[in-house]
Amino acid sequence: MTTHVKRSISFVFLFFVVNMFITNSKSITNGSNNINSVVYVCTGPKAEVYHSRSNCKGLSRCSGTIKKMTLSEAIEKKRRACKLCYKIK
Ligand SMILES: [Zn+2]
Repeated sequence: MTTHVKRSISFVFLFFVVNMFITNSKSITNGSNNINSVVYVCTGPKAEVYHSRSNCKGLSRCSGTIKKMTLSEAIEKKRRACKLCYKIK
């Protein structure tokens, strides 16, 4: 009985440590490349990019409305990164 309790405690502890590690690695990748980060897209017919910020110069030319979505959704809609928001070297 005692060994069983000890075993389950160590299992919970291990689970906790692993969970902490996953949470930490998530916060490291919490940059512009995170697929869950919020991006802004224009619903206009000529729009084909997504923006990291709603006050981007590219969005001010938008003929439709500005829609908020996650990066993964924007990629699904075949959008590419805005050159003003995401400066490519
Ligand atoms: Zn932009």
